Amino acid sequence: MTATSFNLKGKVAIVTGGNGGIGLGMAQGLADAGANIVIAARDTQKSTTAVAALGKRGVRAIAVSCDVTDAASVTAMVAATSKEFGRVDILVNNAGINIRNPVHDMSLEDWHKVMDTNLTSAFLCCKAVHPEMKKAGGGKIINIGSMLSLFGTAYAPAYGASKGGIVQLTKSLAAAWAADNIQANAVLPGWIDTDLTRGAREQVPTLNDNVLRRTPAKRWGTIDDMSGIAVFLASPASDFVTGAAIPVDGGFSALG
Ligand code: NDP
Repeated sequence: MTATSFNLKGKVAIVTGGNGGIGLGMAQGLADAGANIVIAARDTQKSTTAVAALGKRGVRAIAVSCDVTDAASVTAMVAATSKEFGRVDILVNNAGINIRNPVHDMSLEDWHKVMDTNLTSAFLCCKAVHPEMKKAGGGKIINIGSMLSLFGTAYAPAYGASKGGIVQLTKSLAAAWAADNIQANAVLPGWIDTDLTRGAREQVPTLNDNVLRRTPAKRWGTIDDMSGIAVFLASPASDFVTGAAIPVDGGFSALG
């Protein structure tokens, strides 16, 4: 491997939901490796703050308001990226939500909301960037799964189904677009300290102790823990890695 294999200088990365949490951690890593960043999310105030912080890392960063559940909004976001930077090299499908309820208490509306935000969004974003990546001679797609891509749980049926689907979608993308020199991989985070899991900790008082007991690393992951895998999967260092689902979980999935 050459010393420049992780260099992303001149590349353009779209990170959905990149204005906080895991997406921001990945965006920071990509920026430190030289990539210009597009934050695609709904909360413009959060996105403006994220973009200002990313800009201080020596790259160009812009915020494009986008609802990933809306096909027209996704198309407009990719067009805005192309207009600003002239290319799209990296897509991180990170935007996600969870609505906690067992199947018997979950409404159809909530089911669709989770599936649209976590899974259909990735389909829409991938479709929208494909022509741009082909034009650029290749690309990198990083889809964010979960431990619930692997394990079941009573209280998150739509979330688990969406995250299992992410892994299978990733394999289809890898197979279909290898000929276009596009690599697609999934990252499966363990328990990472973000707004999403802070909400879960409030709902489930035993969660914190359970995570610390169950995770071999004996700690929560931080958003900084997510940056290295993003750089690897976005860079030439991973050119022969495609269709994989890689846990970043402090050993959580190593336990039966
Ligand atoms: P956060 O709640 O911190 O971030 C989620 C992001 O998604 C927000 O920035 C939000 O931005 C964005 N988002 C939500 N809905 C939409 C939408 N319709 N359109 C555009 N953006 C949207 O959560 P995390 O950082 O924890 O989660 C990020 C990803 O990682 C998710 O896919 C999650 O499932 C996954 N994950 C998280 C784990 C954890 O332990 N934290 C573990 C495993 C997986 P805005 O509101 O501005 O639109």
